[in-house]
Amino acid sequence: MSKVIAVANQKGGVGKTTTSVNLAASLHAVKRSVLLIDMDPQGNATTGVGLDKHNPIASLSDVLLGDVKIDSAIQRIGDTRMSAISGGPDLTVAEVHLMNMDEREYRLESALRTVRNDFDYVIIDCPPSLNMLTVNALVAADSVLIPMQCEYYAMEGLSALIRTIETIREAANPDLHITGLLRTMYDPRSNLARDVSRELLEVFKDKVYNTAIPRNVRLAEAPSHGMPALMYDQKSRGALAYLALAAEILRKEASRKVAA
Ligand code: ADP
Ligand code: MG
Repeated sequence: MSKVIAVANQKGGVGKTTTSVNLAASLHAVKRSVLLIDMDPQGNATTGVGLDKHNPIASLSDVLLGDVKIDSAIQRIGDTRMSAISGGPDLTVAEVHLMNMDEREYRLESALRTVRNDFDYVIIDCPPSLNMLTVNALVAADSVLIPMQCEYYAMEGLSALIRTIETIREAANPDLHITGLLRTMYDPRSNLARDVSRELLEVFKDKVYNTAIPRNVRLAEAPSHGMPALMYDQKSRGALAYLALAAEILRKEASRKVAA
């Protein structure tokens, strides 16, 4: 059974794309087959794995609008066994068209149904808003991974996201759950980061991943070379942190299976 994880937080710059790309690469590194879906008009996950966001053969936007079958939009990343569906500026246009379509919240879910079991993991990089694209991602997903920076306003947007997740659970996707909150760009020397982290753990308890992603310049540099940190500098702290996250996700899943 494949797992579809939406990486979501309507705040920009919290590490959604960095997490999507590097978690996908880390799961691939431990021999899982992975499909990365770029749901963001900025197309940063697309370029982050070395694909062209302006001139794809077929993009996610074509899939959502029903112009192409999802199979023909799946592109192999380099010579890896990772695949991706590219996003980019045409998703903004697609979002407007979606508004007038039937079953508009279900476009991604129904397209994915035919291919999701070809992969162990499908990772969806969401845009920085709670718009129809994010709704499509949350309807298609089994779970939501929420990256967040441990700073002053971090908790503020969280309640709106959680309300959205609850609405979608009630209306369209009863099994949707938060798989975890991920502390990104984490600096344990900062008092504020430690305080916010403590608060987060008090409120969300074991929903917070043990793994926190440190601020690491290699994670910021890798996208300009069109590759995940694991390919750019596999010994970097950033790359190793995302490998640890992948291991934690696999462990959690194994223990859930035993418990079930
Ligand atoms: P989002 O997708 O939520 O908007 P990004 O993943 O694009 O966020 O991250 C925002 C910026 O921060 C990018 O320039 C990215 O390279 C950088 N960044 C993200 N995570 C880290 C990290 N752990 N260490 C250093 N820079 C990071
Ligand atoms: Mg992004």
